[in-house]
Amino acid sequence: VPMKVGVLALQGDVREHIRSLSDCGVTATSVRRPEEIAAIDALVIPGGESTTIAKLARSFQVFDPIVERIRTGMPVYGSCAGMILIADTVLDAIDGQETFGGIDAVVRRNAFGRQVDSFETDLNFAGITDHPIRAIFIRAPWVESVSPDVKVLAAVDGHPVAIRQGALFATSFHPELTGDNRVHRYFIESVCKESIKAGAL
Ligand code: GLN
Repeated sequence: VPMKVGVLALQGDVREHIRSLSDCGVTATSVRRPEEIAAIDALVIPGGESTTIAKLARSFQVFDPIVERIRTGMPVYGSCAGMILIADTVLDAIDGQETFGGIDAVVRRNAFGRQVDSFETDLNFAGITDHPIRAIFIRAPWVESVSPDVKVLAAVDGHPVAIRQGALFATSFHPELTGDNRVHRYFIESVCKESIKAGAL
């Protein structure tokens, strides 16, 4: 049975993630209801607006179910706003901004600043050893600091932009927009499969 990977479909670029995941050979489906969160093996949280996604997660009553599944070891990949949403601590958050949490890291929203609101660059990515990853950043966060349990996989000017802690994986950038599925494949083949083997599921 192929793994069933949900893409949180409250706001953001859901369709592109579903396409990238499907290309990796898993069953990818959009999820926005508690019973859908209960039925998946892994979750992708797309880019969008972290404050909006958190509020919608409350109104669709999936906020607590997602926190609980993260706590019990479900693999999660958060991209951009999704990175913010799985970080334990957020800088430059709005008043009362909530996150699901899980990764023991401090993430700064909109960190790259106004003049480079959006940019593209080639990144070396630990764990993906063939040619560099073309990374698209859109009002992206960066990682300000991490606990020793968090692995930094890629950085821009010394700021981590891809991190992993066990079953949780996050990038500041948007691999779903490039047609290169290696980052999704890394999530499926490394993060998810290792977590399943480790008995986290
Ligand atoms: N700036 C957005 C936020 O704070 C993230 C942008 C994105 O996901 N492309 O949620």
